[in-house]
Amino acid sequence: MQDHAKVAIYSCLVNALLMAVKYVLGDVAGSLALRADAIHSLADIISSFAIFLGIFIADRKTRTFPEGLYKVENLVALVSSSFIFFAAYEIAHEAIKGESIGQIKNVEYVIIGIVFIVTVAFLFSRYELRVGLKVGSPSLVADAKHITTDLLSTLVILIAVLGSYWGYELDRYAAIIVAALVAKMGFHIMVDSLKVLLDATLDYATLDDIRKVFMSHPDVKQVVSLGGRNSGRYKFVEALLRMDTRLLRDAHEIIIHLEEEILDRHPNIDKLLIHYEPELKDTLSIATAIDVPANEYPDENARLSDHFGEAPYFAILLKDNRNGSVSIQDYLKNPFIDLERHRGVKAAELLAERGVDEVITLLDLQGKGAGYALEALQIDAFMTTANTLKELMSKIQYHVHPFGASAAGL
Ligand SMILES: [Zn+2]
Repeated sequence: MQDHAKVAIYSCLVNALLMAVKYVLGDVAGSLALRADAIHSLADIISSFAIFLGIFIADRKTRTFPEGLYKVENLVALVSSSFIFFAAYEIAHEAIKGESIGQIKNVEYVIIGIVFIVTVAFLFSRYELRVGLKVGSPSLVADAKHITTDLLSTLVILIAVLGSYWGYELDRYAAIIVAALVAKMGFHIMVDSLKVLLDATLDYATLDDIRKVFMSHPDVKQVVSLGGRNSGRYKFVEALLRMDTRLLRDAHEIIIHLEEEILDRHPNIDKLLIHYEPELKDTLSIATAIDVPANEYPDENARLSDHFGEAPYFAILLKDNRNGSVSIQDYLKNPFIDLERHRGVKAAELLAERGVDEVITLLDLQGKGAGYALEALQIDAFMTTANTLKELMSKIQYHVHPFGASAAGL
């Protein structure tokens, strides 16, 4: 088990010890305020246990845990909060209606017990704070600070008990104050768990910061959508970016970089899913290799070629993304057809000079010289099952690719 998971368990145990001591003292001394404070410690146990569960689950690989399991923690907290409310109500009720309140006995035990509580709580909170800062766990740091704050209310209870012993009815009022504090804790635990259980969205500050990270990258042109939700104590974020690159490989590298930076800044984000689409161009230039019988000029009935570098002609098509129309821009005679070698690479370079964005072929260019050349020239290559140029044009026209590229899935 990791260090900070152990410390979270220690925190549960220390709070359990404090709860027991407070409850016994409350009974021995006849102090309602001390019993109320024991219930406060119960609420603290629940918080510490939630921290432990959070750390424990985070240590496991996300994929081995269905997302729903994160919510077990919140469900437990929700049920516990109703017990806390009930206990707070009981205390407040007794403080207001009770007859024999404030008749404190055995005051010397109370003093010894509270000195013990303060010493244990103080030493443990120092230790927990040190570990929390060392491992960078905000929840442990918060837990340590909470224990320190609780020392103050314990001292107030000591004053109330002593006051009651000397004849001032302070115990009753201290009990009501502690009951109110406990009810407030219960309310926070309940609201936090409900928010998560109802899939509340992430807070704006987190989303804003993530958006800033995205926009600070020069290749990110637009954050199309950005959303996230809490599950357990974890955050899930999903985003769609429009990027100034048409190559999937480049986009992938940018995304890995963005992911690293965001997870660095928000270590409690458990899952980050970034989708991307290339920036939409108004027009797209698409080239395809066609077969044309010798001494004939190509037209739209030309058959698509089984070759690339050895094809006699390339047709250059223009897709207008504003109205979806596809037209033939040019026929390019392949000047490299008679070369011995590197015909595909030369043809790819020629198409790049002509400003072609995409190449669509019958032939799979992947792993071939032409395929590598196209990739290096930032030209996307797609395959099609169309037989003729006309058929390809109609496929391109009616094919609306969600990411703006014309040809995937032709
Ligand atoms: Zn507390």
